[in-house]
Amino acid sequence: SRRPAANSIIAPDFKFEDMGIGGLDKEFATIFRRAFASRVFPPGLVEKLGIQHVKGILLYGPPGTGKTLIARQIGKMLNAREPKVINGPEVLNKFVGQSEENIRKLFADAEKEYKEKGDESGLHIIIFDELDAVCKQRGSGAGGGTGVGDSVVNQLLAKLDGVDQLNNILLIGMTNRKDMIDDALLRPGRLEVHLEIALPDEHGRAQILKIHTHRMQQNKVLDRDVDILELAHRTKNFSGAELNGLVKAATSFAFNRHIKVGTVAGISDDVADMKVNKTDFENALE
Ligand code: ATP
Repeated sequence: SRRPAANSIIAPDFKFEDMGIGGLDKEFATIFRRAFASRVFPPGLVEKLGIQHVKGILLYGPPGTGKTLIARQIGKMLNAREPKVINGPEVLNKFVGQSEENIRKLFADAEKEYKEKGDESGLHIIIFDELDAVCKQRGSGAGGGTGVGDSVVNQLLAKLDGVDQLNNILLIGMTNRKDMIDDALLRPGRLEVHLEIALPDEHGRAQILKIHTHRMQQNKVLDRDVDILELAHRTKNFSGAELNGLVKAATSFAFNRHIKVGTVAGISDDVADMKVNKTDFENALE
């Protein structure tokens, strides 16, 4: 009974465990429930209910917590094209009309396909990182006081409202500063599902550390004295990116322990049976 419906947009080979995202199960489930559930309803139900699919979501929270990871995994999970990724500051262009043109181009493929195929069109995902750089409250002088920010917001609104009849677009906006985003963008029909991606709790940190040490563990390069749960306990307020950094730092301490100063030729022998141990993690923590 859990077999995906014939019209499923979930990629058949998608496995939740393979996502490499730690501590965000609840957030992922919420995004699914609130933003995609309608896309996997049985045929005809959406029309019967008279609703529209969610066209946009906003992921917000501190840097390095996995917003980009989630956005990309959503793309992989759904039977969608490779997402188009754009970065706020990249869009801004001092030449008149160029920033608006950049926005227009983002939506062009989806619009074209929808014109040709209607609801049979594949899903197009647009990931908009650092949205706050261009979508500050209008009139606030985003875009270096050139007024470029205002017209970018207007263009984005026009595109989102214009796709009212388009069912094939999902815009994922990301920001560290939700309070900076123009309210008009956050209304129903636009970026309507808002989800905070916060710093991981202890359980989440353990999951993230496991993900980033998985390979070492599999290949028996992680010394058995390394206690992931204890590390998770001691890394309060670390983001996912910082936990990843911790593992990398521990690895380089291990590396330094193994290579003998002055040798270059012999390095491969020195590190052939290298292990990353508790002391390396202690050094990294420090
Ligand atoms: P920013 O706001 O700075 O763009 P972000 O929230 O988009 O940050 P990511 O780019 O997704 O953060 O994370 C950076 C890296 O940190 C990831 O590539 C990954 O290695 C690691 N990381 C962050 N969060 C997680 C997580 N929840 N699980 C596993 N790895 C994570």
